[in-house]
Amino acid sequence: MGLADDGGLLIPKCIPDVASELPRWRRLGYTDLAFVIMRLFSDLPDQALRELIARSYSTFRAPEITPVVQVGDRYVLELFHGPTMAFKDVALQFLGNLFEYDLQLSGGGLNIVGATSGDTGSAAIYGVCGKSRITIFILHPHGKVSPIQERQMTSVLDANVFNIAVDGTFDDCQGIVKDLFNDLQFKRELSLGAVNSINWARILAQIVYYFYGVFRVMDSTGALGVRVAVPTGNFGDVFAGYIAARMGLPVSKLVLATNENDILSRFFNSGVYSKAPVVSTVSPSMDIQIASNFERYLYYQCNCDSKRLRALMTEFSISGRLEMPKGQGPSDDLIVAGSAGTADVFATIRDYYQRNRYLLDPHTAVGVSVSSRFMSKTEPMLCLATAHPAKFGETITKALGQDLAHHPILDELRTRPTRCKILSANTAAVREYVSAHAVRRPTGV
Ligand SMILES: *Cc1c(COP(=O)(O)O)cnc(C)c1O
Repeated sequence: MGLADDGGLLIPKCIPDVASELPRWRRLGYTDLAFVIMRLFSDLPDQALRELIARSYSTFRAPEITPVVQVGDRYVLELFHGPTMAFKDVALQFLGNLFEYDLQLSGGGLNIVGATSGDTGSAAIYGVCGKSRITIFILHPHGKVSPIQERQMTSVLDANVFNIAVDGTFDDCQGIVKDLFNDLQFKRELSLGAVNSINWARILAQIVYYFYGVFRVMDSTGALGVRVAVPTGNFGDVFAGYIAARMGLPVSKLVLATNENDILSRFFNSGVYSKAPVVSTVSPSMDIQIASNFERYLYYQCNCDSKRLRALMTEFSISGRLEMPKGQGPSDDLIVAGSAGTADVFATIRDYYQRNRYLLDPHTAVGVSVSSRFMSKTEPMLCLATAHPAKFGETITKALGQDLAHHPILDELRTRPTRCKILSANTAAVREYVSAHAVRRPTGV
Protein backbone atom coordinates (compact mmCIF):
# COMPACT_ATOMS: atom_id res chain seq x y z
CA MET A 1 0.00 0.00 0.00
CA GLY A 2 1.27 3.45 -0.87
CA LEU A 3 -0.61 6.35 0.70
CA ALA A 4 -2.83 5.80 3.72
CA ASP A 5 -6.52 6.61 3.28
CA ASP A 6 -6.14 10.05 4.87
CA GLY A 7 -3.39 10.98 2.39
CA GLY A 8 -0.54 10.53 4.89
CA LEU A 9 2.37 8.10 4.70
CA LEU A 10 2.49 4.82 6.60
CA ILE A 11 5.15 4.21 9.23
CA PRO A 12 5.76 1.30 11.60
CA LYS A 13 4.07 1.42 15.02
CA CYS A 14 7.43 1.56 16.71
CA ILE A 15 11.10 1.42 15.80
CA PRO A 16 12.56 -1.70 17.45
CA ASP A 17 15.79 -1.36 19.43
CA VAL A 18 18.14 -4.12 18.22
CA ALA A 19 21.40 -2.97 19.85
CA SER A 20 21.70 -6.19 21.87
CA GLU A 21 21.33 -8.32 18.69
CA LEU A 22 24.18 -6.68 16.80
CA PRO A 23 27.02 -9.05 17.81
CA ARG A 24 24.95 -12.02 16.58
CA TRP A 25 23.63 -10.29 13.46
CA ARG A 26 27.13 -9.30 12.44
CA ARG A 27 27.89 -12.92 11.59
CA LEU A 28 24.91 -13.36 9.24
CA GLY A 29 25.02 -13.43 5.45
CA TYR A 30 22.84 -11.01 3.47
CA THR A 31 19.65 -13.04 3.18
CA ASP A 32 19.72 -14.25 6.81
CA LEU A 33 20.25 -10.67 7.90
CA ALA A 34 17.34 -9.55 5.72
CA PHE A 35 15.17 -12.18 7.41
CA VAL A 36 15.89 -11.14 11.02
CA ILE A 37 15.39 -7.46 10.19
CA MET A 38 12.26 -7.78 8.07
CA ARG A 39 10.46 -10.12 10.43
CA LEU A 40 10.48 -7.37 13.08
CA PHE A 41 8.19 -5.35 10.79
CA SER A 42 6.15 -8.11 9.20
CA ASP A 43 3.48 -10.63 10.10
CA LEU A 44 4.27 -13.05 7.26
CA PRO A 45 4.93 -16.65 8.32
CA ASP A 46 8.70 -17.16 8.77
CA GLN A 47 8.94 -19.74 6.01
CA ALA A 48 7.14 -17.52 3.51
CA LEU A 49 9.32 -14.53 4.36
CA ARG A 50 12.49 -16.61 4.00
CA GLU A 51 11.37 -17.82 0.59
CA LEU A 52 10.46 -14.32 -0.59
CA ILE A 53 13.88 -13.02 0.42
CA ALA A 54 15.72 -15.95 -1.18
CA ARG A 55 13.83 -15.50 -4.46
CA SER A 56 14.29 -11.71 -4.49
CA TYR A 57 18.06 -11.79 -4.14
CA SER A 58 18.76 -14.85 -6.29
CA THR A 59 18.66 -12.47 -9.28
CA PHE A 60 21.72 -10.53 -8.07
CA ARG A 61 25.04 -11.08 -9.79
CA ALA A 62 27.22 -10.77 -6.67
CA PRO A 63 27.26 -13.62 -4.11
CA GLU A 64 27.30 -11.06 -1.29
CA ILE A 65 24.32 -9.20 -2.90
CA THR A 66 25.65 -5.77 -1.81
CA PRO A 67 29.45 -6.12 -1.46
CA VAL A 68 31.64 -3.52 0.25
CA VAL A 69 34.94 -2.62 -1.43
CA GLN A 70 37.69 -0.42 -0.08
CA VAL A 71 38.56 2.34 -2.54
CA GLY A 72 41.32 4.72 -1.42
CA ASP A 73 40.47 6.18 1.98
CA ARG A 74 36.79 5.26 1.78
CA TYR A 75 34.57 2.21 1.53
CA VAL A 76 32.00 1.78 -1.22
CA LEU A 77 28.79 -0.23 -0.78
CA GLU A 78 27.97 -1.53 -4.27
CA LEU A 79 24.18 -1.62 -4.57
CA PHE A 80 24.12 -2.13 -8.34
CA HIS A 81 24.45 -5.89 -8.83
CA GLY A 82 20.73 -6.45 -9.44
CA PRO A 83 19.04 -7.00 -12.83
CA THR A 84 18.90 -3.33 -13.89
CA MET A 85 22.17 -2.28 -12.23
CA ALA A 86 20.77 0.39 -9.96
CA PHE A 87 20.04 0.25 -6.26
CA LYS A 88 16.28 0.35 -6.83
CA ASP A 89 16.46 -3.39 -7.64
CA VAL A 90 17.16 -4.14 -3.95
CA ALA A 91 13.68 -2.88 -3.07
CA LEU A 92 11.72 -3.65 -6.24
CA GLN A 93 12.80 -7.28 -6.61
CA PHE A 94 11.42 -7.82 -3.11
CA LEU A 95 8.27 -5.74 -3.69
CA GLY A 96 7.39 -7.70 -6.86
CA ASN A 97 7.60 -11.00 -5.01
CA LEU A 98 5.65 -9.60 -2.07
CA PHE A 99 2.82 -8.46 -4.37
CA GLU A 100 2.75 -11.88 -6.00
CA TYR A 101 2.60 -13.66 -2.64
CA ASP A 102 -0.22 -11.44 -1.47
CA LEU A 103 -2.22 -11.92 -4.69
CA GLN A 104 -1.85 -15.68 -4.51
CA LEU A 105 -3.39 -15.61 -1.02
CA SER A 106 -6.22 -13.25 -1.96
CA GLY A 107 -6.83 -14.70 -5.43
CA GLY A 108 -6.72 -11.15 -6.82
CA GLY A 109 -5.02 -9.46 -9.73
CA LEU A 110 -3.08 -6.21 -9.90
CA ASN A 111 -2.42 -3.72 -12.68
CA ILE A 112 0.58 -1.55 -11.95
CA VAL A 113 0.68 1.78 -13.73
CA GLY A 114 3.61 4.16 -13.42
CA ALA A 115 5.52 6.93 -15.15
CA THR A 116 9.30 7.00 -15.33
CA SER A 117 12.05 9.33 -16.45
CA GLY A 118 14.62 6.56 -16.14
CA ASP A 119 15.68 4.11 -13.43
CA THR A 120 12.45 3.36 -11.59
CA GLY A 121 10.64 2.06 -14.69
CA SER A 122 13.12 -0.65 -15.56
CA ALA A 123 13.57 -1.74 -11.93
CA ALA A 124 9.77 -1.99 -11.53
CA ILE A 125 9.47 -3.98 -14.77
CA TYR A 126 12.19 -6.41 -13.69
CA GLY A 127 10.45 -6.71 -10.31
CA VAL A 128 7.25 -8.14 -11.81
CA CYS A 129 8.04 -9.47 -15.31
CA GLY A 130 6.76 -12.99 -15.85
CA LYS A 131 4.58 -12.98 -12.71
CA SER A 132 1.03 -14.22 -13.01
CA ARG A 133 -1.77 -12.03 -11.61
CA ILE A 134 0.26 -8.85 -12.23
CA THR A 135 0.40 -6.68 -15.33
CA ILE A 136 2.59 -3.61 -15.54
CA PHE A 137 2.22 -0.50 -17.69
CA ILE A 138 5.15 1.92 -17.66
CA LEU A 139 4.88 5.27 -19.41
CA HIS A 140 8.01 7.09 -20.52
CA PRO A 141 8.38 10.25 -22.62
CA HIS A 142 9.06 9.09 -26.19
CA GLY A 143 12.71 9.67 -27.16
CA LYS A 144 13.45 11.52 -23.93
CA VAL A 145 14.98 8.83 -21.72
CA SER A 146 18.57 7.68 -22.22
CA PRO A 147 18.99 4.99 -24.93
CA ILE A 148 20.19 2.41 -22.36
CA GLN A 149 17.31 3.13 -20.01
CA GLU A 150 14.81 2.86 -22.86
CA ARG A 151 16.29 -0.44 -24.02
CA GLN A 152 16.33 -1.83 -20.48
CA MET A 153 12.57 -1.38 -20.42
CA THR A 154 11.50 -2.18 -23.96
CA SER A 155 13.65 -5.31 -24.35
CA VAL A 156 11.59 -7.10 -21.68
CA LEU A 157 9.21 -9.14 -23.81
CA ASP A 158 7.17 -10.94 -21.12
CA ALA A 159 3.46 -10.95 -21.90
CA ASN A 160 2.60 -9.02 -18.69
CA VAL A 161 4.85 -6.05 -19.50
CA PHE A 162 3.57 -3.07 -21.49
CA ASN A 163 5.86 -0.16 -22.28
CA ILE A 164 4.10 2.96 -23.46
CA ALA A 165 6.14 5.71 -25.12
CA VAL A 166 4.10 8.89 -24.75
CA ASP A 167 4.54 11.63 -27.34
CA GLY A 168 5.19 14.28 -24.72
CA THR A 169 7.25 15.08 -21.62
CA PHE A 170 7.77 13.25 -18.34
CA ASP A 171 5.26 15.65 -16.78
CA ASP A 172 2.68 14.58 -19.39
CA CYS A 173 3.30 10.94 -18.42
CA GLN A 174 2.88 11.75 -14.73
CA GLY A 175 -0.25 13.76 -15.44
CA ILE A 176 -1.82 10.84 -17.32
CA VAL A 177 -0.98 8.40 -14.52
CA LYS A 178 -2.48 10.79 -11.99
CA ASP A 179 -5.66 11.09 -14.09
CA LEU A 180 -6.00 7.31 -14.21
CA PHE A 181 -5.61 6.99 -10.43
CA ASN A 182 -8.08 9.83 -9.87
CA ASP A 183 -10.69 7.99 -11.92
CA LEU A 184 -11.84 6.01 -8.88
CA GLN A 185 -14.17 3.72 -10.78
CA PHE A 186 -11.41 2.80 -13.24
CA LYS A 187 -8.95 2.41 -10.39
CA ARG A 188 -11.23 0.05 -8.48
CA GLU A 189 -12.38 -1.90 -11.52
CA LEU A 190 -8.82 -2.69 -12.62
CA SER A 191 -7.26 -2.70 -9.12
CA LEU A 192 -4.62 -0.22 -10.16
CA GLY A 193 -1.47 -0.24 -8.08
CA ALA A 194 1.64 1.91 -7.87
CA VAL A 195 5.28 1.13 -7.13
CA ASN A 196 6.38 4.58 -6.05
CA SER A 197 9.01 5.22 -3.46
CA ILE A 198 6.59 5.91 -0.62
CA ASN A 199 5.80 2.20 -0.28
CA TRP A 200 7.06 1.16 3.16
CA ALA A 201 8.16 -2.28 1.87
CA ARG A 202 10.75 -0.53 -0.28
CA ILE A 203 12.19 1.30 2.72
CA LEU A 204 12.22 -1.96 4.67
CA ALA A 205 14.25 -3.78 2.01
CA GLN A 206 16.74 -0.90 1.99
CA ILE A 207 17.31 -0.92 5.77
CA VAL A 208 19.02 -4.30 5.34
CA TYR A 209 22.02 -3.10 3.35
CA TYR A 210 22.85 -0.41 5.90
CA PHE A 211 23.32 -3.18 8.47
CA TYR A 212 25.24 -5.33 6.01
CA GLY A 213 27.52 -2.49 4.84
CA VAL A 214 28.22 -0.99 8.26
CA PHE A 215 29.04 -4.46 9.67
CA ARG A 216 31.57 -5.09 6.88
CA VAL A 217 33.31 -1.75 7.53
CA MET A 218 33.39 -2.51 11.28
CA ASP A 219 34.90 -5.94 10.47
CA SER A 220 37.69 -4.40 8.36
CA THR A 221 38.51 -1.44 10.56
CA GLY A 222 37.46 -2.32 14.10
CA ALA A 223 35.74 1.08 14.25
CA LEU A 224 32.85 1.54 16.67
CA GLY A 225 31.01 4.07 14.51
CA VAL A 226 30.69 4.45 10.74
CA ARG A 227 29.68 7.49 8.67
CA VAL A 228 27.52 6.76 5.64
CA ALA A 229 27.23 9.01 2.58
CA VAL A 230 23.99 8.77 0.61
CA PRO A 231 23.16 10.43 -2.73
CA THR A 232 19.56 11.52 -2.37
CA GLY A 233 16.51 12.43 -4.45
CA ASN A 234 13.27 11.35 -2.79
CA PHE A 235 14.82 10.86 0.67
CA GLY A 236 13.99 7.14 0.40
CA ASP A 237 17.46 5.70 0.64
CA VAL A 238 18.60 8.09 3.36
CA PHE A 239 15.38 7.51 5.32
CA ALA A 240 16.16 3.77 5.42
CA GLY A 241 19.55 4.72 6.91
CA TYR A 242 17.83 6.93 9.45
CA ILE A 243 15.64 4.03 10.60
CA ALA A 244 18.68 1.71 10.77
CA ALA A 245 20.44 4.24 12.99
CA ARG A 246 17.37 4.64 15.22
CA MET A 247 17.29 0.83 15.56
CA GLY A 248 20.74 0.97 17.12
CA LEU A 249 23.10 0.41 14.20
CA PRO A 250 26.25 2.48 14.93
CA VAL A 251 25.83 4.96 12.07
CA SER A 252 27.44 8.03 13.59
CA LYS A 253 26.64 10.39 10.71
CA LEU A 254 24.42 10.19 7.67
CA VAL A 255 25.90 12.42 5.00
CA LEU A 256 23.00 13.49 2.80
CA ALA A 257 24.20 14.49 -0.67
CA THR A 258 22.15 16.30 -3.31
CA ASN A 259 22.96 17.58 -6.78
CA GLU A 260 21.94 21.09 -7.88
CA ASN A 261 18.37 20.21 -6.81
CA ASP A 262 19.28 20.93 -3.23
CA ILE A 263 16.06 21.44 -1.28
CA LEU A 264 17.12 18.75 1.22
CA SER A 265 20.67 19.94 1.80
CA ARG A 266 19.36 23.50 2.23
CA PHE A 267 16.92 22.21 4.83
CA PHE A 268 19.55 20.38 6.84
CA ASN A 269 21.79 23.43 6.82
CA SER A 270 19.16 26.12 7.48
CA GLY A 271 16.02 24.50 8.92
CA VAL A 272 13.99 25.88 6.00
CA TYR A 273 12.40 23.50 3.46
CA SER A 274 11.45 25.56 0.43
CA LYS A 275 10.59 24.58 -3.12
CA ALA A 276 12.65 25.68 -6.11
CA PRO A 277 12.33 24.80 -9.82
CA VAL A 278 13.78 21.42 -10.89
CA VAL A 279 16.91 21.64 -13.05
CA SER A 280 18.27 18.73 -15.09
CA THR A 281 21.69 17.43 -14.12
CA VAL A 282 24.11 14.59 -14.92
CA SER A 283 22.55 12.61 -12.04
CA PRO A 284 18.97 12.56 -13.41
CA SER A 285 17.56 10.10 -10.86
CA MET A 286 18.09 12.76 -8.21
CA ASP A 287 16.46 15.62 -10.13
CA ILE A 288 13.67 15.97 -7.60
CA GLN A 289 12.55 18.93 -5.54
CA ILE A 290 9.78 17.61 -3.34
CA ALA A 291 11.14 14.56 -1.53
CA SER A 292 8.17 12.32 -0.88
CA ASN A 293 9.71 10.43 2.06
CA PHE A 294 10.73 13.58 3.88
CA GLU A 295 7.33 13.72 5.58
CA ARG A 296 8.20 10.51 7.42
CA TYR A 297 11.37 12.03 8.82
CA LEU A 298 9.50 15.19 9.84
CA TYR A 299 7.03 13.05 11.76
CA TYR A 300 9.82 11.76 13.99
CA GLN A 301 11.34 15.24 14.28
CA CYS A 302 7.92 16.44 15.48
CA ASN A 303 8.26 13.82 18.25
CA CYS A 304 5.46 11.79 16.59
CA ASP A 305 2.97 14.64 16.93
CA SER A 306 0.69 14.03 13.89
CA LYS A 307 -1.22 17.28 14.41
CA ARG A 308 1.94 19.32 14.26
CA LEU A 309 3.13 17.37 11.18
CA ARG A 310 -0.19 17.96 9.46
CA ALA A 311 0.10 21.70 10.15
CA LEU A 312 3.63 21.77 8.69
CA MET A 313 2.64 19.82 5.56
CA THR A 314 -0.42 22.03 5.04
CA GLU A 315 1.76 25.11 5.35
CA PHE A 316 4.15 23.62 2.79
CA SER A 317 1.41 22.77 0.31
CA ILE A 318 0.06 26.34 0.50
CA SER A 319 3.27 28.37 0.55
CA GLY A 320 5.93 25.94 -0.77
CA ARG A 321 7.89 26.51 2.43
CA LEU A 322 8.12 25.16 5.95
CA GLU A 323 10.47 25.77 8.82
CA MET A 324 11.74 23.40 11.48
CA PRO A 325 14.66 24.77 13.48
CA LYS A 326 17.27 22.42 14.94
CA GLY A 327 17.13 21.37 18.55
CA GLN A 328 13.55 20.07 18.47
CA GLY A 329 13.78 16.49 17.24
CA PRO A 330 15.19 13.24 18.65
CA SER A 331 18.28 12.92 16.42
CA ASP A 332 19.27 16.32 15.21
CA ASP A 333 22.98 15.67 14.86
CA LEU A 334 22.71 12.48 12.84
CA ILE A 335 22.14 13.96 9.38
CA VAL A 336 24.64 16.39 7.87
CA ALA A 337 24.24 17.58 4.30
CA GLY A 338 25.80 19.18 1.28
CA SER A 339 25.34 19.48 -2.44
CA ALA A 340 27.68 18.82 -5.38
CA GLY A 341 27.34 20.42 -8.82
CA THR A 342 28.34 19.06 -12.23
CA ALA A 343 31.94 20.33 -11.99
CA ASP A 344 32.36 18.58 -8.60
CA VAL A 345 30.90 15.38 -10.03
CA PHE A 346 33.24 15.38 -13.04
CA ALA A 347 36.26 16.14 -10.84
CA THR A 348 35.32 13.35 -8.43
CA ILE A 349 34.88 10.80 -11.23
CA ARG A 350 38.29 11.78 -12.66
CA ASP A 351 40.02 11.77 -9.29
CA TYR A 352 38.66 8.36 -8.31
CA TYR A 353 39.65 6.87 -11.60
CA GLN A 354 43.14 8.35 -11.63
CA ARG A 355 43.96 7.49 -8.02
CA ASN A 356 42.16 4.17 -7.62
CA ARG A 357 41.19 2.92 -11.10
CA TYR A 358 37.60 2.82 -9.82
CA LEU A 359 34.70 4.20 -11.86
CA LEU A 360 31.93 6.06 -10.03
CA ASP A 361 28.57 6.63 -11.68
CA PRO A 362 27.48 10.30 -11.49
CA HIS A 363 24.94 9.69 -8.67
CA THR A 364 27.51 7.89 -6.56
CA ALA A 365 30.00 10.67 -7.34
CA VAL A 366 27.63 13.23 -5.80
CA GLY A 367 27.77 11.26 -2.53
CA VAL A 368 31.53 10.74 -2.67
CA SER A 369 32.12 14.42 -3.42
CA VAL A 370 30.02 15.62 -0.48
CA SER A 371 31.50 12.95 1.82
CA SER A 372 34.93 14.63 1.47
CA ARG A 373 33.60 17.50 3.62
CA PHE A 374 32.73 15.16 6.49
CA MET A 375 35.73 12.82 6.83
CA SER A 376 36.92 11.88 10.32
CA LYS A 377 40.11 10.27 11.66
CA THR A 378 38.29 7.80 13.90
CA GLU A 379 35.14 7.01 11.95
CA PRO A 380 35.47 5.43 8.49
CA MET A 381 33.29 6.65 5.61
CA LEU A 382 31.03 4.26 3.69
CA CYS A 383 29.71 5.68 0.39
CA LEU A 384 26.59 4.16 -1.16
CA ALA A 385 27.09 3.36 -4.87
CA THR A 386 23.60 3.58 -6.35
CA ALA A 387 24.18 2.74 -10.03
CA HIS A 388 26.69 0.86 -12.16
CA PRO A 389 28.88 3.37 -14.06
CA ALA A 390 28.03 1.75 -17.42
CA LYS A 391 24.42 2.90 -17.01
CA PHE A 392 25.69 6.46 -17.37
CA GLY A 393 28.60 5.77 -19.72
CA GLU A 394 28.21 9.01 -21.70
CA THR A 395 28.72 11.12 -18.60
CA ILE A 396 31.76 9.08 -17.62
CA THR A 397 33.18 9.63 -21.11
CA LYS A 398 32.64 13.37 -20.76
CA ALA A 399 34.37 13.39 -17.37
CA LEU A 400 37.35 11.24 -18.39
CA GLY A 401 37.68 11.92 -22.11
CA GLN A 402 37.70 8.14 -22.57
CA ASP A 403 34.86 5.69 -23.13
CA LEU A 404 35.62 3.30 -20.24
CA ALA A 405 32.34 2.39 -18.57
CA HIS A 406 30.90 -0.76 -20.06
CA HIS A 407 29.10 -3.89 -18.95
CA PRO A 408 28.53 -6.82 -21.32
CA ILE A 409 24.85 -7.05 -20.39
CA LEU A 410 24.22 -3.40 -21.15
CA ASP A 411 26.25 -3.57 -24.38
CA GLU A 412 24.28 -6.60 -25.48
CA LEU A 413 20.98 -4.74 -25.04
CA ARG A 414 21.66 -2.84 -28.24
CA THR A 415 21.00 -5.92 -30.35
CA ARG A 416 17.99 -7.27 -28.46
CA PRO A 417 14.49 -7.12 -29.94
CA THR A 418 12.17 -4.59 -28.30
CA ARG A 419 8.45 -4.00 -27.92
CA CYS A 420 6.80 -0.67 -27.14
CA LYS A 421 3.50 1.08 -27.87
CA ILE A 422 3.66 4.71 -28.93
CA LEU A 423 0.62 6.74 -27.85
CA SER A 424 -0.29 10.42 -27.93
CA ALA A 425 -0.14 12.39 -24.68
CA ASN A 426 -3.79 11.85 -24.05
CA THR A 427 -5.38 10.23 -21.00
CA ALA A 428 -8.25 8.65 -22.96
CA ALA A 429 -5.85 6.89 -25.36
CA VAL A 430 -3.80 5.47 -22.49
CA ARG A 431 -6.91 4.49 -20.52
CA GLU A 432 -8.22 2.55 -23.51
CA TYR A 433 -4.88 0.77 -24.02
CA VAL A 434 -4.55 -0.15 -20.34
CA SER A 435 -8.14 -1.34 -20.21
CA ALA A 436 -7.64 -3.58 -23.25
CA HIS A 437 -4.53 -5.30 -21.81
CA ALA A 438 -5.22 -5.37 -18.06
CA VAL A 439 -5.51 -8.58 -16.01
CA ARG A 440 -9.04 -8.94 -14.75
CA ARG A 441 -9.69 -10.94 -11.67
CA PRO A 442 -11.85 -10.24 -8.66
CA THR A 443 -9.59 -8.69 -6.05
CA GLY A 444 -11.44 -9.91 -3.00
CA VAL A 445 -11.09 -6.47 -1.38
C1 LIG B 1 16.59 6.68 -7.37
C2 LIG B 1 18.04 6.90 -7.37
C3 LIG B 1 18.68 7.72 -6.40
C4 LIG B 1 17.91 8.47 -5.34
O1 LIG B 1 17.29 7.64 -4.40
P1 LIG B 1 16.19 8.19 -3.40
O2 LIG B 1 15.71 7.02 -2.63
O3 LIG B 1 15.13 8.80 -4.26
O4 LIG B 1 16.85 9.20 -2.54
C5 LIG B 1 20.06 7.82 -6.44
N1 LIG B 1 20.79 7.19 -7.40
C6 LIG B 1 20.23 6.41 -8.34
C7 LIG B 1 21.09 5.76 -9.35
C8 LIG B 1 18.84 6.23 -8.36
O5 LIG B 1 18.29 5.45 -9.31
